[in-house]
Amino acid sequence: MKPVFSVIVPIYNEIEVLPVLVERLTAVMDRTGKPWEAVLIDDGSKDGSSEMMREISAADNRYRSLFFARNFGHQIAVTAGMDYALGDAVIVIDADLQDPPETILELIAKWEEGYEVVYAVRSEREGETWFKKTSAALFYRLIYKITDVDIPLDTGDFRLLDRKVVDVMGRMREKHRFLRGMSSWIGFKQTGVSYHRAKRYAGTSKYPFKKMIRLAWNAITGFSYVPLQLATFLGFIVAALAILLIPIVVVLRIRGTELIGQATTLISTLFLGGVQLICLGIIGEYLGRIYDEVKARPLYVIREASGSKYDENGVLPTPKE
Ligand code: UDP
Ligand code: MG
Repeated sequence: MKPVFSVIVPIYNEIEVLPVLVERLTAVMDRTGKPWEAVLIDDGSKDGSSEMMREISAADNRYRSLFFARNFGHQIAVTAGMDYALGDAVIVIDADLQDPPETILELIAKWEEGYEVVYAVRSEREGETWFKKTSAALFYRLIYKITDVDIPLDTGDFRLLDRKVVDVMGRMREKHRFLRGMSSWIGFKQTGVSYHRAKRYAGTSKYPFKKMIRLAWNAITGFSYVPLQLATFLGFIVAALAILLIPIVVVLRIRGTELIGQATTLISTLFLGGVQLICLGIIGEYLGRIYDEVKARPLYVIREASGSKYDENGVLPTPKE
């Protein structure tokens, strides 16, 4: 039977949390009283999560599993899940139980009221480092300020998306993805539900600093030109400074004051060099992203898929790539 709800769970080395996740998710989803499925995406795990996912799919055919050929990253894993999901409403949730599965029922209640995007807002975050909380808070505020879309503050990817939204997002094949931004960009009727973000159930964060920075850059470059405009802005400032300095230098020269040269010249050259390199680097960031788009490689590579039970022909629905 075609599922009404699809729950997408990206998995990267989550062997310790998988059994509890399945138990809690199954209990919650059964309470909806409607047919549902879960799409588990193995993002190149190396800790035996893949084997466990095979067992999960074999034991309960509502759990379908996809296996990536390597680690493609969280946002891409969720995208693959959205490509494969068959439900009328699609719920994205982390595997580590930081997003409590029980909150899904609240998201569904809003969806039944007619909202097409229901995002979960973190009212509190538990068990995360000071650094993670502060950097996340700063990041959301920066994004909010400089992007053209209103991305709600303190929301992660934990959300419910209506089939209409999923179909539109499926057509947005940009390589460097910031899904929360994309789902805000689309529009439709959106609302938030606040929840208490729990501690990671087991294991450690799979979002090291490097991946966080990459996601932040994707968010900024994907939704804003402000960094590119920085060059113009800095250019005006430096030019204004130069114009102010010219008469001063002329006057000093006429008065016969000795201008002390070397240190000033060195500092101003280095300063300008630094500014120019930063601006070039920013252009490079955008250029690299354009290059990735032009190459038009698929977003992900699937090694194997299991547990296709819903397609009328008994075939796993093909992804869009
Ligand atoms: N994840 C993934 N691929 C990655 C990194 C993370 O699929 O390259 C998954 C991970 O298994 C989890 C979710 O994305 O289900 C969120 O990751 P995590 O909990 O480590 O991030 P944090 O909550 O620390 O930001
Ligand atoms: Mg987590």
